[in-house]
Amino acid sequence: MSQIHVLVINCGSSSVKFSIIDSNSGQAVLTGIAERLLSAKASFKLSYQQQSEQLSLKAPYDHQAAITELVQQLTRLALLDTLSAVGHRVVHGGEHFSAPSLITKEVKQTIADLAHLAPLHNPANLTGINAAEKALGHLPQVAVFDTAFHQSMPEKAYLYGLPYELYQEHDIRRYGFHGSSHSFVAGQAANFIGKPLRQCSFISAHLGNGCSITAIKAGQSIDSSMGFTPLEGVMMGSRSGDLDPGIIFHLIEHLGYSPEQVQTLLNKDSGLLGLSGLSNDCRELEQAALTQGNKRAKLALEIFCYRIAKYIAALSASLTSLDGVIFTGGIGENSSYVREQVINQLSLLNFHLDQDKNRETRFGKSDDISTPSSRYALVIPTNEEGVIASQSIQVLQEVL
Ligand code: AMP
Repeated sequence: MSQIHVLVINCGSSSVKFSIIDSNSGQAVLTGIAERLLSAKASFKLSYQQQSEQLSLKAPYDHQAAITELVQQLTRLALLDTLSAVGHRVVHGGEHFSAPSLITKEVKQTIADLAHLAPLHNPANLTGINAAEKALGHLPQVAVFDTAFHQSMPEKAYLYGLPYELYQEHDIRRYGFHGSSHSFVAGQAANFIGKPLRQCSFISAHLGNGCSITAIKAGQSIDSSMGFTPLEGVMMGSRSGDLDPGIIFHLIEHLGYSPEQVQTLLNKDSGLLGLSGLSNDCRELEQAALTQGNKRAKLALEIFCYRIAKYIAALSASLTSLDGVIFTGGIGENSSYVREQVINQLSLLNFHLDQDKNRETRFGKSDDISTPSSRYALVIPTNEEGVIASQSIQVLQEVL
């Protein structure tokens, strides 16, 4: 089969992550990131054929400058002409997008109109789309939405216990995120256990800097822990996850917080970072807790794992059967400690850990870490860029 390369772009407010994916294998041919954009400290890193390079960016150090530099590098490496499409990760597709979409003027307008639902993400994603269109206008551009996979959630899962008008008039409902990852690992898990996906029920735990848990039945999301924003659900690296909304009023009315300070507190200063006072990085906390006896690092990890287990148990109520749980994301794939704590908390649901298998999982490979009498506990490497690339090609095949 001939190689089809897709440039995958994931644009944040001050960064552009990019990779070239061979859409047949789902593997990255080239990866890189432009960071600290909009500041003179902007950097541009690129890895290709086991070589990494750090380059400086030219003023005005913005997203356009990053993409212009990328195009120059792709020309130098003779990769530009190998590209068939550009796939963009777009965080919020609201109720408009339940599938990836070829980017048109109307699609861009809808993404812009949805900015009220994701003010930090959608405008940044649009900036990336505009910059890529300018520099790579000859290629079709496709938007792949984080929320699309969860559009299959039933009303009872996505509505809040709020006045219905807030949903009707202001789109306030639960959306769910990390859709590309959850749908990918469910497909991989079905292959791994050798059962058709349409007959499988899984709970997938995407545990990275952001964390979300999803109940998946017959390959469809039926409930997920993240809600109106990615703040709801389990505790994360620096996000609080679920809390009593009364705390927000208390912070504002009695402790003098402004709404912006509350936003920062809950999104950037809470979670593993806030509880440990040390770091949002799971690896660093494990090091501190397990080798240096740091009590707060240990406590932060304990709460993190407990809350994940509680969510897995809660979401199991949305299913009528359960084949197993899937661990993915930087933490899910790499932290045997977190997986052990979570599985040990779930013996009531008949999850039992094989300690040796858990310790011996191989990097980048799918594994089952459960005992023979347990439900499956799977470790499945995610590949969000691979999903964006393959969905982009699928859209082109359908539309063009
Ligand atoms: P992601 O956002 O998916 O890239 O995941 C980032 C998280 O994965 C960070 O908290 C890392 O500390 C964590 N992580 C990566 N490798 C390991 C590891 N070997 N052990 C524990 N946590 C890890």
